[in-house]
Amino acid sequence: MNINPSASLRINPFESAMEQLAKAAKFFSKKESTLLLTLLSQPQRILNVTIPVKMDDGSLKIFQGYRVQFNNARGPYKGGIRYHPQVSLDEVKALSFWMTVKCAVADLPLGGGKSGIIVDPKSLSAGELERLSRGYVRAIADNIGPDKDVPAPDVNTNGMIMGWMLDEFMKVQRSKDNKLRATFTGKLLKDGGSEGREEATGLGGLYVLQAILKHLKLTGNLTAAVQGFGNVGYNVTKFLIDAGMKVVAVSDSKGGIYVPEGINPELTLECKKKHGPPAGGLAGCYCSGSVCDLKKGKTITNAELLELPVDILVPSALENVLTGQNARKIKAKVILEMANGPTAPEADTILYKRGIPVIPDVLSNSGGVSVSCFEWEQNLKGQHWTKDVVNRKLKTKMEKEATNVWLASKKYKTDLRTAAFYLALTRILSAMK
Ligand code: GLU
Repeated sequence: MNINPSASLRINPFESAMEQLAKAAKFFSKKESTLLLTLLSQPQRILNVTIPVKMDDGSLKIFQGYRVQFNNARGPYKGGIRYHPQVSLDEVKALSFWMTVKCAVADLPLGGGKSGIIVDPKSLSAGELERLSRGYVRAIADNIGPDKDVPAPDVNTNGMIMGWMLDEFMKVQRSKDNKLRATFTGKLLKDGGSEGREEATGLGGLYVLQAILKHLKLTGNLTAAVQGFGNVGYNVTKFLIDAGMKVVAVSDSKGGIYVPEGINPELTLECKKKHGPPAGGLAGCYCSGSVCDLKKGKTITNAELLELPVDILVPSALENVLTGQNARKIKAKVILEMANGPTAPEADTILYKRGIPVIPDVLSNSGGVSVSCFEWEQNLKGQHWTKDVVNRKLKTKMEKEATNVWLASKKYKTDLRTAAFYLALTRILSAMK
């Protein structure tokens, strides 16, 4: 979701990530800070693969894919697989670094990794998508496994794709050992997935938000705007509404809708599906057919959504939507980052000065990888936990780490991102010693 192509293209996500690292490293002794900066300024391994795919018309197309294994000091590399036409190596490096930090913030026994394949998945048939997914797994199979590296879904991938990948991995390994199911998380239940994984990122985001709002003493009838209406955006919208908040605007890559009375996520999702690519997604949903719930609203652009006068702004799409150019125009009281890397460092500085707390991605969207970790654990132990058990464990973890981050931000008089990084770096450092 490129709301300001010229601004966001200029921002290199890996450089932003390294700026965030340097800012937090300042809170350590000279010796520790040098160690952290040396060890975390480059990934441990980059796999750069080409994937030949037989297209439906009989032609052969070569796709480019990456797996970046950033750091495994705390456990096997962990992180999702992204399918997007704008994937770049620097983006995947940044995302794998953020996974390293995220898993440490959530106190999981896992390191950080990430995959990206340069592809517009919406232009592929189901068969082509499956062949691409299986081909990618064959290319990286020697380097993944329950105690090596554990991939999962990310932007434009899902449980069905994880199922194809696991099946291909088992074929390559020539094994039927059920423990190997722990190689992938975010799977469908039938393939060994966990209860609650699909909605875990959204639900975790709600738990983190509620914990921080309590510390901020922000109560009342709160309103929110959610940018991005994929798995995470949809689920967080639903959970915010269930928790009594009013979501007045949502958007996808094509545009958004603003409904002051509050949107209905189910109708909106139904409409998005109907108007999905290539017709135009949410932008086509303004009072269409039976979805006249949206009659009371109007269409807005992504840029307008970000600047709405709401209490909580929830960027849930891609990187760098909050930049030096729009940070002064943000009217929200709190920002809940559900996407990875939505706030550029320049925007962070401006928002901090303006007194607008940014609840950082490495904390607020860590519910997804936390339940991925529960799934990995269940597969390894041959167990299946109920949704109640999963959600209870998720709530306990999110509330605990949100409070740890809040307390560190008070103690060191710094923003929440730097506090979360501080917490993570302390944990990574002690694992490296
Ligand atoms: N892609 C998700 C993230 O960025 C989940 C990763 C996982 O479950 O491993 O956090």
